[in-house]
Amino acid sequence: MVKTLVFGQVREDIIEENTLGVLNKLTEISGISEVIVALFGHQIKDEWISELGKHGASRVVSVKAPELEVYLSRPYVKAMLEVIEKTEPKLVIAAGTVYGEDLIPRLAVHHGVSCAQRINDITIVGDELHFHTPVRDDQAMKVTRIEGAIKFATSRSGAFFVNENPTGGSPNVESFDVSFSEEDMLVKHIEIKKAERTVNLKDAKVIVAGGRGVGGKEQFQIIRELAEILGGEIGATRACTDVHWIEETYEIGQTGQSVSPDIYIAAGISGAPQHVSGIKAKTLIAINTDEGAAIFNFADYGIVGDLHVILPILKQKLQG
Ligand SMILES: Cc1cc2nc3c(=O)[nH]c(=O)nc-3n(C[C@H](O)[C@H](O)[C@H](O)COP(=O)(O)OP(=O)(O)OC[C@H]3O[C@@H](n4cnc5c(N)ncnc54)[C@H](O)[C@@H]3O)c2cc1C
Repeated sequence: MVKTLVFGQVREDIIEENTLGVLNKLTEISGISEVIVALFGHQIKDEWISELGKHGASRVVSVKAPELEVYLSRPYVKAMLEVIEKTEPKLVIAAGTVYGEDLIPRLAVHHGVSCAQRINDITIVGDELHFHTPVRDDQAMKVTRIEGAIKFATSRSGAFFVNENPTGGSPNVESFDVSFSEEDMLVKHIEIKKAERTVNLKDAKVIVAGGRGVGGKEQFQIIRELAEILGGEIGATRACTDVHWIEETYEIGQTGQSVSPDIYIAAGISGAPQHVSGIKAKTLIAINTDEGAAIFNFADYGIVGDLHVILPILKQKLQG
């Protein structure tokens, strides 16, 4: 049986959604014996603990310290290593957020083992844990087994559904003290600045969305320019947000946002079900070099061609 420790993440004062998804997934795996959550912060709120319990945590180990008010690698690694020592899990897992993906590999390195990143399934075969990761643009699945007494993993964002009516109970709660030296606090938190521009894809009447066919971060400029001329928003596929051509908040689809604009321009997007499931547009215009691309099955108007030729022409025409 696999005792599991989950890194409890809080975002904007509530338990981060993907963390709840990880808990829900763990409760579905029969070989998982106990689900413990490590919760860190300056303050730990009762409602966080109750939410974790509802979604399947049987035990919450909370470490309260001013040094843990915001995520910083060194103090969080130290606190998590101490919780691991205290709870002796066989699996340590975090939702693959920026923080989860920073923390877990550091813990794995400390234990001298590798870790499985961005998994979307876990199975137990005999007494072995198998981690499943989609690869090659989601066309294939890699199954990994990790050496070492403790296995470390992060989940892929949106891989596990969050149960809307969770039926778990109240977890046992233990508080735990960790002290931090000056060396642990070499990096100081100064401030968190919110992005000046808020993304409002849900209410947008026009969305110009780019996919992998855009070709790079700088090349996204043409998508931005056209969206601005049309008074709309920009959108993107996961293929673009995964490689940081554009921020995650612009992702549309199953794990991104659902949108219902009057006009949706899909440029360099193949039309994967996970993307188109998030679009309810009155008019969908697709631009793709491949006339067989699935996006044309959903399009009201289709243009077969290079977006870097077509969008500048469109821009010029719109500007008169
Ligand atoms: C659990 C899970 C959840 C997912 N959730 C989402 C989600 O929420 N949103 C999402 O988008 N994806 C999601 N995905 C990923 C999804 O399966 C696809 O991999 C992704 O949508 C593909 O993005 P794309 O169309 O940009 O890239 P590709 O599939 O690589 O398509 C690129 C397209 O660009 C065209 N092209 C290339 N060059 C040009 C050019 N110069 N001009 C015009 N066209 C060109 C190509 O012909 C091709 O059709 C998810 C996958 C999984 C497994």
